[in-house]
Amino acid sequence: MKADQGRSAIVAGAGIGGLAAAIGLLRGGWDVTVLERAPELREAGAGWSFAPNALRAADALGVGAEFRACSVPTEAGATMRRPDGAYLMRFRPDADPPLLANHRAELQRVLARHVPAERIRTGAEVTGVRQDGDGVTVTCRDGGEVRADLLVGADGIHSAVRRGAWPDAPEPVYQRILCWRGVTEPGAVRSVHGFQTWGRGARFGAHPLNGERVFWFLTVRQEEQGLRFDDDLGEVSARTRGWHEPIPALLAATRPEAVLRHDIYDLDPLPSYVKGRVALLGDAAHAMTPFLAQGACQALEDAVVLAAETAGAGDVAQALDRYDAARRPRARQVQRMARTDPRLSLSTSPVTYRLMTAMTRLASSGVARRKSARLWHWTPDGNESGSSEGRFRSD
Ligand SMILES: Cc1cc2nc3c(=O)[nH]c(=O)nc-3n(C[C@H](O)[C@H](O)[C@H](O)COP(=O)(O)OP(=O)(O)OC[C@H]3O[C@@H](n4cnc5c(N)ncnc54)[C@H](O)[C@@H]3O)c2cc1C
Repeated sequence: MKADQGRSAIVAGAGIGGLAAAIGLLRGGWDVTVLERAPELREAGAGWSFAPNALRAADALGVGAEFRACSVPTEAGATMRRPDGAYLMRFRPDADPPLLANHRAELQRVLARHVPAERIRTGAEVTGVRQDGDGVTVTCRDGGEVRADLLVGADGIHSAVRRGAWPDAPEPVYQRILCWRGVTEPGAVRSVHGFQTWGRGARFGAHPLNGERVFWFLTVRQEEQGLRFDDDLGEVSARTRGWHEPIPALLAATRPEAVLRHDIYDLDPLPSYVKGRVALLGDAAHAMTPFLAQGACQALEDAVVLAAETAGAGDVAQALDRYDAARRPRARQVQRMARTDPRLSLSTSPVTYRLMTAMTRLASSGVARRKSARLWHWTPDGNESGSSEGRFRSD
């Protein structure tokens, strides 16, 4: 690790965005302190998938090999089925790059290995932010204060950093979507290649995970927020009754107490991700619905650009302005697409559903693939392709 240049950074939040930012900043010579609210780095969460743009970002941060090692290819990005099992679109190895799926806790462990343990303070909840001429001070719930030259707010959709530095920013918006997620018990069911199944007002998806497990999700249109169910797994089974195999088998192989349920919120676009020496990153900046599976991918892109712009001894505020200019248009576009997508794809209207499935079947070789290509084209150096392994390595 390169010796620090006397410049200090606080990263609020040790999720994927915060850890990736910490890795990038450490490589750029920053003296980094990560403040995480949770009492320890949690083993919680289910699975998720990553597109090629995220892999390029992981390569640029120098963690690509370990990222791949904890992941499994999934065809769910280009395999669409109807509840009766008929295919609307099939994964084509010659045309579709497989996505990579992994378990959140495992990816978090991979990233945390690249941040020295003494730089991560758990049980440290940021509650306040104060800026003056040449630095930024954060207050924690226990009353303690930490001061640095730069503060990165990577503390998720309900970001305290955003509330502190942007007191007028709007609150997250409920998108009338409810989501359940689960992971099957190891070895309890035959693995899958990855698929999505589109019902009317409901979408099921499954990705293979390592350890002979399968991650699945069900998203449904739901007008009211805050609904609770005595039996979440039973609710998922009821809402997918009669749907094709292996959906019933996956649900049967999942422990009921391991099922997670979330209302889905996103953020309206912010006018800036930067204020003075404070920068927002990941969900704190641009939380989006999970419909494009891009929230965490975008957090990785943010981390790479932030690290590149702030590496070296230049002016911090100017570097952050460049970060904002580079990231906001891109993240905003993805955020907008992720908000628009479920209006159609989770529509409960029988007419819209018939139209959508018919169009997907007809246009599967063109439109859907072009849309994905637009999302996934990003590279750390702004070119369309090429490896960037270890771009920010300075050790
Ligand atoms: C159902 C669902 C499925 C998804 N699937 C995908 C997918 O397949 N692919 C994908 O790319 N994205 C996916 N996403 C999006 C992805 O989960 C998020 O975009 C990503 O987790 C954002 O990472 P983050 O680090 O910005 O925030 P978070 O993951 O929310 O991490 C924030 C961290 O900050 C901590 N924290 C919070 N407040 C404070 C505070 N005040 N002080 C200190 N610490 C604090 C939290 O404890 C947490 O550790 C999905 C999202 C959902 C809801």
